Amino acid sequence: MIGCSLSVPGRDWPKDMKLSNMHANGFVLAGTCPHCHHEAAFPTVTGTYEYRSGSGWPDLIIGGAQCLACNNYILGILESKQSGTGIQWVYATHYPLEKPDDRVADEIPSEIKPDFQEALRCRWIKAYNATVEMCRRALEASCIQLGADPDLVLSKMIDWIHGQGKITTPLQEMAHKIKLGGNRGAHPSYRTITPEDADAVIEFTAEYFQHVYVMPARMNKFDFGKPKKTK
Ligand SMILES: [Zn+2]
Repeated sequence: MIGCSLSVPGRDWPKDMKLSNMHANGFVLAGTCPHCHHEAAFPTVTGTYEYRSGSGWPDLIIGGAQCLACNNYILGILESKQSGTGIQWVYATHYPLEKPDDRVADEIPSEIKPDFQEALRCRWIKAYNATVEMCRRALEASCIQLGADPDLVLSKMIDWIHGQGKITTPLQEMAHKIKLGGNRGAHPSYRTITPEDADAVIEFTAEYFQHVYVMPARMNKFDFGKPKKTK
């Protein structure tokens, strides 16, 4: 399971890049890759451009750099800081800073995955109401996938799949919590959806799918039954 693991990684998108070293032809950045999300080094692979606002030291050095983990490219920018009589180069920024991490567990059925992925992308742009609405939609898609009548209201679908023994009582309660969060996002009210609310609903939805789809698929891969005698 990746992307939607239960600690909801990547939701705060830390900008943890730093300058690793400089050399005659460029520089090397180190940090989390915006493309592959791995910790990696980014040596410049182009010439660098030096921006000067005056006649002295450059203010900025700009260069195209390549992630050594995935081979994708970023634009790295360094800035000069006064240091004694000279200057020191430090990391300023890079582009793209981050891309939405909408990876979800492969075990989630394909008719449900896109809704949950859209929820993760909504969270990335701080669209908190849309985030919880899309989690609710993913839950509804899951209820239908588990055989609930699409004409029922969602709370009845949840209770039906619980009645069929497809989810446990704690999961039923979690599903109702996701549904209520989605309702708050969908309808105007005094109760505003906060970033913490959105993160919680994502966490509950990821946990729900972990139990409903990921865990059973994982268990199916292992057979610890008594080996049959061969004749
Ligand atoms: Zn990368």
